[in-house]
Amino acid sequence: MTEWYQAVLKKAKEEAAKNPTVLKVDSHRYLTSGEIALAKLIYKDSIDYSKVRIINGGFLGIPNKTKFAMVPFGNIHFPKEDYEKIKDFSKLTAKVKPSHQIWFIHEMAHVWQHTLGLSVALRGIEMGIRGGYSQAKGYDYDLICDDQYREFNQFNFEQQAEIISHYFDAFYLPEEGHNAPKQRSKNEKQKFALKKVLAGFLQNPNNKDLISKNHGKLYYGKDPLQY
Ligand SMILES: [Zn+2]
Repeated sequence: MTEWYQAVLKKAKEEAAKNPTVLKVDSHRYLTSGEIALAKLIYKDSIDYSKVRIINGGFLGIPNKTKFAMVPFGNIHFPKEDYEKIKDFSKLTAKVKPSHQIWFIHEMAHVWQHTLGLSVALRGIEMGIRGGYSQAKGYDYDLICDDQYREFNQFNFEQQAEIISHYFDAFYLPEEGHNAPKQRSKNEKQKFALKKVLAGFLQNPNNKDLISKNHGKLYYGKDPLQY
């Protein structure tokens, strides 16, 4: 562990000690039976679904400011408007589109990572410091070319969540009437590459060897630092 990472850890702990209410919970709900069934298609029995909460509000106000969801400690924090709009991700309606289901599966990947023992909150802080959230650079991956020989645990934690949710899109969501046709068509093209990189995960999502060993690039959008 590098010195700066230890410093970040120390700072985060100090902040949490100073203000124990930083994890603000406005309201919450548990997963619906439909959402559990949807998530089980991918994560099988690797998650204790009865414990997972969908939370309105978040960590230092992050979901509402960025319009991103986050899963710092095994529960999914959604921005207020999405929390209020979507009462059940499993049912496609005028309000709930395929892209919302992909989003749900992406966030459930962080719940899965948390269950396996990965510190999602700290990885998120680290990714932020490294610039991975700027223009979502840390999410990109390329299974057809650059990343074709990588094992699943060699992708960073956001890439892992993307790969899983794109697999879900390619194999479970219909192409017709999809509200994100460009992404759906890309996922169709990389369908078998997604299946290949996820082979171990699909066989046994409880395997701790699947935990991401990749902390993200130093630094996104800049030349890598030389040590
Ligand atoms: Zn994510």
